[in-house]
Amino acid sequence: MIWDDLCELIDSHQRFLISSHLSLDGDSVGSQLAMSWHLKSKGKDVVLYNADPVPKKFRFLQRVEEITTVVPSVKPDVLVILDCSNLQRLGWNAEGITPLIINIDHHRDNTRFGIFNHIDDRAAATGAIICRFFKECGITYPPEVAEALYAAIMTDTGGFRFSNTTSSILRICADLIDAGADGSKIYEKVYSSHAPEGLMLQARIWSSLKYHLDGRVCSMEMPLAVLEEIGAVYSDSEGMADHTITAEGVEVGIMVKYSASESHFSLRSKGTVDVGKIAQKIPGGGGHFSAAGCTIEMPFEEAFPYMLNILSAEMG
Ligand code: 5GP
Ligand code: MN
Repeated sequence: MIWDDLCELIDSHQRFLISSHLSLDGDSVGSQLAMSWHLKSKGKDVVLYNADPVPKKFRFLQRVEEITTVVPSVKPDVLVILDCSNLQRLGWNAEGITPLIINIDHHRDNTRFGIFNHIDDRAAATGAIICRFFKECGITYPPEVAEALYAAIMTDTGGFRFSNTTSSILRICADLIDAGADGSKIYEKVYSSHAPEGLMLQARIWSSLKYHLDGRVCSMEMPLAVLEEIGAVYSDSEGMADHTITAEGVEVGIMVKYSASESHFSLRSKGTVDVGKIAQKIPGGGGHFSAAGCTIEMPFEEAFPYMLNILSAEMG
C-alpha cells in the first residue's frame, strides 16, 4: 500500500516536528492539526512550529493554540512538512535537522525534498490527501479533526467555488460532515468573522483596483505601511486576490503587497493563462495553474511594470 512507508516511519520514531509554508492558510493549518492529532493518538511527541502565526479566522479550530512560532528547543527525529512545495517556503531553516522528512503536498512544483514524498497535484487540498490516508488506513477521527480537515478543503476550493470542486472532493466533505464537521459554522468562522479593522483594510485595497492590457488584467495593491495606519494585520488581506478575477473580460488578476524594497505578487487566472508558469519565471515563485505567487526584490514602482511585461508577453 502507498502508505506503508509512511506508517513505518511514524511507528519507528518518537519525536515529530510538523510545519508548513509561510503565510499560513486554511489548508496548512487544518492539515497540521489533523496530522498532529494522528501522531499524538499513537503516543508520539509532537511540536507544531511555523515561521508565521495562525491567522485569526482559523483560531476557532480546536488545539490551534498548539501551533507556535516559538523556535523548538528539542531536535525531532522526523520532520513532517505539509502543503509546502519546497524547503525555502517554510520561512525557517530546516537544513541539517534530520534526514527524515515526510513531505505531503498537492503543489505540482513540489521539489520532493522528503524521504517519504506523497505529492498529488490532482488533490484539491493537502487536507484531502490526509483524508485519503486516514480512510485507506482505517483511521477514524473525532469531530474536531473532521472540522480541521473540512476547513482545509473548504478554503483551498475557495468555499467550493473553484474548478477543483469535483464530485469526489464533495464526497470527502460529506464524509467529514458525517464525522462531525459543521459546514455552516466553519463557513461563518472563516468567511464572515472579520475584525472591523480588517474590513476597513479590505475597503482600502478595493479602492486601489485598476485594469491593464485592454481589460484582460486587473490589479489591486497594498503597501504594508497601511496595516499600521489602519490597525489591521497582514492576514486580514487574505482572500482579496481572489476578487481580482471577478470582473467580466479579466483573464489574470494581480494582488501586490509591497514594502519599500520588495513586492509580493499573488496571481490568479480564470483558466486561460497558467499563472503558476508565470510565477516560476521569478526565483522562488510558483504555485498552481490558477493561483500562484512570487516575490520580486524591487520596489512596487519597478516590480509592477516588470510583472506586467511578463504577462503581456505571455498572454500575446
Ligand atoms: P496566495 O496568492 O494565496 O498567497 O498563494 C496562491 C498559491 O501560490 C498557493 O498555492 C501558494 O502556496 C503559492 N505561492 C504563493 N506565493 C508563493 C511564492 O512566493 N513561491 C511559491 N513557490 N509559491 C507561492
Ligand atoms: Mn493547499
